Amino acid sequence: MLALTSRCFPLEGLWPARRSLRTWASGQSKRLLMENFYRHQRRQTGILMSPGAGELEPEGGQFNFDHDNREPPPKGQDTLGVEAPWYPVEDEIDQEVREYLDGLEASGEIRFRGADGPRLFPQPGRRPLSALEHFVTTRLATFGPHEDAAMQGDWAMSHSLLSPALNLGLLDPREVVDRVLGAYHAGAVELASAEGFIRQVMGWRDWVWHLYWHLGPDFVESNYLGHHEPLPTWWAELDSTDIRSRCIAHVLEEVHTRGWTHHINRLMVLGSFALQRGFNPRALNDWFVDAFVDGTPWVMPANVIGMSQYADGGQVATKPYTSGGAYLNTMTNYCTSCAFKPTIRVGEKACPMSAGYWNFLHQNREALRGNFRLAKPLAGLSRLSDLEQVLEQESSRSEY
Ligand SMILES: Cc1cc2nc3c(=O)[nH]c(=O)nc-3n(C[C@H](O)[C@H](O)[C@H](O)COP(=O)(O)OP(=O)(O)OC[C@H]3O[C@@H](n4cnc5c(N)ncnc54)[C@H](O)[C@@H]3O)c2cc1C
Ligand code: SF4
Repeated sequence: MLALTSRCFPLEGLWPARRSLRTWASGQSKRLLMENFYRHQRRQTGILMSPGAGELEPEGGQFNFDHDNREPPPKGQDTLGVEAPWYPVEDEIDQEVREYLDGLEASGEIRFRGADGPRLFPQPGRRPLSALEHFVTTRLATFGPHEDAAMQGDWAMSHSLLSPALNLGLLDPREVVDRVLGAYHAGAVELASAEGFIRQVMGWRDWVWHLYWHLGPDFVESNYLGHHEPLPTWWAELDSTDIRSRCIAHVLEEVHTRGWTHHINRLMVLGSFALQRGFNPRALNDWFVDAFVDGTPWVMPANVIGMSQYADGGQVATKPYTSGGAYLNTMTNYCTSCAFKPTIRVGEKACPMSAGYWNFLHQNREALRGNFRLAKPLAGLSRLSDLEQVLEQESSRSEY
């Protein structure tokens, strides 16, 4: 166990000292922005940096190519059309583990949620490297552009599916970064793809890891917005049978089937819905740890308490990550087969995400008032002709 834990240290050897993070953080303003951390990392490690006139400069003249990576799903397609991800072949160890777990469940010692499907992620041995190799050679080139999109027919999109292997210590983050760098230097992928992916690992992942230690054990109890709603049973049990909102039902089904769904589904569907409905952030944090195959306590506080639920009042994120149905209608293809309509706020067809968004802003307007990134939407509240009806409807909504 100890060995696994120590191998979970992101980019070990590059930035191992918590003291370094403290030094960096002490030079930052109120917020610890990932982008600033990432740039610092790039400068410290020299990764994707080239000699310039004075100090090292980012390759391609900029640190971040994110503006190229916000494409909606391609029109007229059910999937992205990229090669399927690497799948492991189960062996007798899988069989033994399954029997062992079935035995524990039968004896009442443990209860599982979700389907007992085939294993989709690597196990110890050489296979994590096969998964990495397969991703780099078949899907890395398309990782960037549709990173923020979601499609019902494509559960993996161009994501790497490497988080379980990384979090279990089967893959070292540094070897992942080095392999991607190798592909870029060999001319196999464009800079935007390599940079976009490397930012996930040495930016986001490393940042979240360091924040876990930096923010301390009480951070997970933060509840700036005073949200205390318990998780509904259907949510906690991953049971989407009675859920008519296509986005919520589909993403819960994915978690039920695989214990995994990609980032935008976690943030802009699950997290956004939970925030709008006032779920208790600590309970949500623990649910993510339990329900996801890559769920591990150190990943959650920055992602769930900070980014997704704004429960820290904005230490980690500059605004709450939530949206109305219009955003999901642009970036996903969920709305086309939904019982609700993203443009409708009131009535039988009122989209729970759209009505929920305005309801959330109204309920939390005092707490959010000083946030300059929300100034426009908050001003928009007073122009909403049907606000009273939206509020009344959402105060007693029982159907999603
Ligand atoms: C509400 C919420 C819950 C999340 N829960 C988890 C979790 O339980 N476990 C987990 O590892 N990640 C979690 N994440 C972060 C991210 O969604 C997953 O790491 C990613 O979806 C895993 O899929 P992938 O390996 O295909 O990632 P890719 O999209 O291929 O990205 C490559 C790698 O970058 C790293 N990464 C990218 N973003 C993040 C991030 N925000 N935090 C940490 N690492 C990141 C991961 O190691 C990931 O494997 C969560 C994010 C949110 C918003
Ligand atoms: S219409 Fe609303 S509830 Fe339905 S899928 Fe779109 S965003 Fe989700």
